[in-house]
Amino acid sequence: MKFDTVIIGSGLAGLASGIRLAEAGKSCAIVSSGQSSLYFSSGSMDFLTRLPDGREVTHPLSALSELFRQAPNHPYSRIGEKNVVSLVYQAEKLIRESGLVMTGSASQNHYRVTPIGHQRMTWLSPARVPVRELERPFWWENVVVIGIAGFLDFHPGIVASALQRQGVKASAQEMHLPFLDKLRDNASEFRSVNIAHLLDRPENLPLIAEEISRLAQGHDAVFLPACIGLETDSIVEALQILVKKPIYLLPTLPPSLLGMRIYQALREQFRHLGGVMMVGDTVNGVEMADNHITGLYTRNHGDIPLRASHVILATGSFFSNGLKTTLDRVYEPLLDLDLLAYSAREQWTRKNVFAAQPYLKFGVTTDEYLRPLKSGQVVENLYAAGAVLGGYDPLAEGCGSGVSLLSALFVAEQIITGKRSTKQRIPEIA
Ligand SMILES: Cc1cc2nc3c(=O)[nH]c(=O)nc-3n(C[C@H](O)[C@H](O)[C@H](O)COP(=O)(O)OP(=O)(O)OC[C@H]3O[C@@H](n4cnc5c(N)ncnc54)[C@H](O)[C@@H]3O)c2cc1C
Repeated sequence: MKFDTVIIGSGLAGLASGIRLAEAGKSCAIVSSGQSSLYFSSGSMDFLTRLPDGREVTHPLSALSELFRQAPNHPYSRIGEKNVVSLVYQAEKLIRESGLVMTGSASQNHYRVTPIGHQRMTWLSPARVPVRELERPFWWENVVVIGIAGFLDFHPGIVASALQRQGVKASAQEMHLPFLDKLRDNASEFRSVNIAHLLDRPENLPLIAEEISRLAQGHDAVFLPACIGLETDSIVEALQILVKKPIYLLPTLPPSLLGMRIYQALREQFRHLGGVMMVGDTVNGVEMADNHITGLYTRNHGDIPLRASHVILATGSFFSNGLKTTLDRVYEPLLDLDLLAYSAREQWTRKNVFAAQPYLKFGVTTDEYLRPLKSGQVVENLYAAGAVLGGYDPLAEGCGSGVSLLSALFVAEQIITGKRSTKQRIPEIA
């Protein structure tokens, strides 16, 4: 099987690069082992909320030059300011064109309400997530947070008390819906996705609306756990019309419906543009000659290699097995690529679990076109995108989705325009 580009991994990075390449008319396949971190994400996308020195960032685009000064190995620094600025708007466009309705902009972060009622800064949030602009108060005055009786992955009382501490009038309620009883027999079945399968049934809508209307009397907005609207938002829209009050969704513990919706929308857009998805398959062998990848072997295709002019490594970080460790070694499992990582085990972590952890910055090292190095040499037709890249901390710097989307679009652009660079060695992180 021959493609122009084979992408390994179907997280945010793999899908975004696939969409851009397919849109440009390139034949493209994505091979993906399984669920990506989108299934565990809040659904909100971070671009940059803190500098490496800990200072808060409210206006990400204005903070780029300081980021580049502090973190020359950060993927945004590799990509360069002019490219970051144009790619961030391209990313917002890609999201919109994939049918996702998100609020926010890279010129100014906003706050989203977290699953425990706190506020966290971010770049883009699904339109159903309660948010507030930087200098503005929440617009609602009297919120009811409604949980689902027996659902342990969301606690309305915790959310309501946190909102009250922030000056919002809020109360907690629980809805009792008899048609959910069949799930209650088994606690492991009583999870967001299974609940959504039942809440999404049109015949259940009047009952849900009646229960929410009863509990929401005297309140001006309703917060629900994101257990409704698995495929589309239309069921929540219909519910809102019946309840006659704005309805917002808060992320739950995984699986996260808000993240899954992003995955589904991007996957459909990729397929719609002619991309080939090989889900449930794993790249387990790479054939190389003269610093080029000449074939990829997968579990399902056995000894029939996938051939491609270009390969994108979008395998994620430790969470998705894009990076692995033994007790004393960090490594990239497919090609044993060069890493930005500390070799001494005691430098991987800090004792204070709340401190930024050095291992989160580990990842592959690249040239300025995001082509990884192997034993100091650029792999000429391989590009890296997303969480497999080193040099940044998605958690402490609040930049996980931004790096995935922008690096994906950046490497797609290299492939589309056919740029090549001289070989370059990047030093270990300080
Ligand atoms: C639990 C969790 C929650 C997060 N929540 C947020 C959030 O709310 N907001 C935010 O901005 N950022 C969040 N992040 C940061 C996150 O890293 C990025 O936002 C982004 O989604 C990462 O996308 P990715 O495509 O680079 O990697 P991943 O999402 O990790 O995807 C990698 C994919 O590669 C596949 N893969 C790996 N090896 C192979 C192989 N050999 N063959 C085939 N396929 C392979 C995996 O199965 C997976 O599908 C979160 C990260 C984690 C781990």
